Amino acid sequence: MRKLKAQYIFDGVQLLKLATLVINKNGKIETILHNNTTETAGEEFFNGILCPGFVNAHCHLELSHYRNQIPQHTGLSEFVKNIVSLRNSLSGAMEAIQVADLEMQRNGIVAVGDISNNDTSFVTKQQSSIHYHTFIELLDLFNKNSQEFERGKQLFSSYFHSMPLSLTAHSPYTCSRKLIERITEHATEYEYPLSIHNQECEGENEMYRTNSGTLYEQIFADNTPAGATSSQTTGSANAKRPFFKYGKTSLQTYSTWLPQNSHILFIHNTHTSQADIDFLKRNLPNLQYTFVVCPKSNAYIAGEVPPLDLFLKNKLNVAIGTDSLASNTELNIVNELFALQQAFSEVSLEQLLTCATHNGARALGIQRNFGAFEKGKTPGVNLLEHIDFANMKLQRTTTIQKLL
Ligand SMILES: [Zn+2]
Repeated sequence: MRKLKAQYIFDGVQLLKLATLVINKNGKIETILHNNTTETAGEEFFNGILCPGFVNAHCHLELSHYRNQIPQHTGLSEFVKNIVSLRNSLSGAMEAIQVADLEMQRNGIVAVGDISNNDTSFVTKQQSSIHYHTFIELLDLFNKNSQEFERGKQLFSSYFHSMPLSLTAHSPYTCSRKLIERITEHATEYEYPLSIHNQECEGENEMYRTNSGTLYEQIFADNTPAGATSSQTTGSANAKRPFFKYGKTSLQTYSTWLPQNSHILFIHNTHTSQADIDFLKRNLPNLQYTFVVCPKSNAYIAGEVPPLDLFLKNKLNVAIGTDSLASNTELNIVNELFALQQAFSEVSLEQLLTCATHNGARALGIQRNFGAFEKGKTPGVNLLEHIDFANMKLQRTTTIQKLL
């Protein structure tokens, strides 16, 4: 049995002063002793805040070898173009995946929602001490949706006995309605969470409203989609595919195609509005979802900030993601929280830590073991050091030490 004390203990939802965390020899939480002012033998004291291991709700481990390869602040379309153009020229994918996994372990991350296009990262994930939920990402921009869906299903069938898996849609702007509906059907059968990049740029909303706009032009102007037939095109020289044009924002459109019994992780949401949130609440009251924010990735790609205040005001479940090393310089949840604190000084440290622990666990459906110091759970223990205790804020110098 270990008894851990610090200035504060964050239990998953609140900061506790004068508390002691009791852990059994298997690393399971035994209890939290409150108002424990008496010193007992064998107690360990730490300078800082003890909190449960972090949940990184959005990463792409398989893109780790893109670290420092893509220029910053060019916008989403340029970013995607760069990813595609570097695909065959970069090497060292496997080594970079292993390094990234170790980096997350060191930074106190205990569970990850990880996007995969293929099985390159699967061995590392299976062997890691981190709990990974893998989302096999499908997109049918340039493929037939039936082929792409079959590819995903095969990968799913090969691995779903040995690791937590989902099929998932990459984004509203790269997936047809038919593909999203096929995934919905599969998710309903297997009851897994879904993850979708949502409203990362305004061009995505334009595309769904009007079948035009910057993102649409960039994607379709130079490319004739392989699956496009003459009846699917406008007949113009650009052979555009008008499968969008729903007259509403992307979220207000495709959310109605999603399963009602799966937890949905909406990723990014930098261009999600109050009207979009009202739409979900009014029209899909049974939809279970989390808004995952990846502030450092948004800053890297487009110099943007996700509207965290809007999501918290609406009492949404908000979780934190690092996104991949293609659009981030590191995989470190504390620095994501610091970036959010810089943008939203009114958001409390308690709220930020709740997003990084309890809410992330809820998003991935792993709250039975992770995200909180509660009896019987094995959430890991992190020590946050160099906190500004006078103002209860993180500092640029705040560091993380993984204790357990
Ligand atoms: Zn992503």
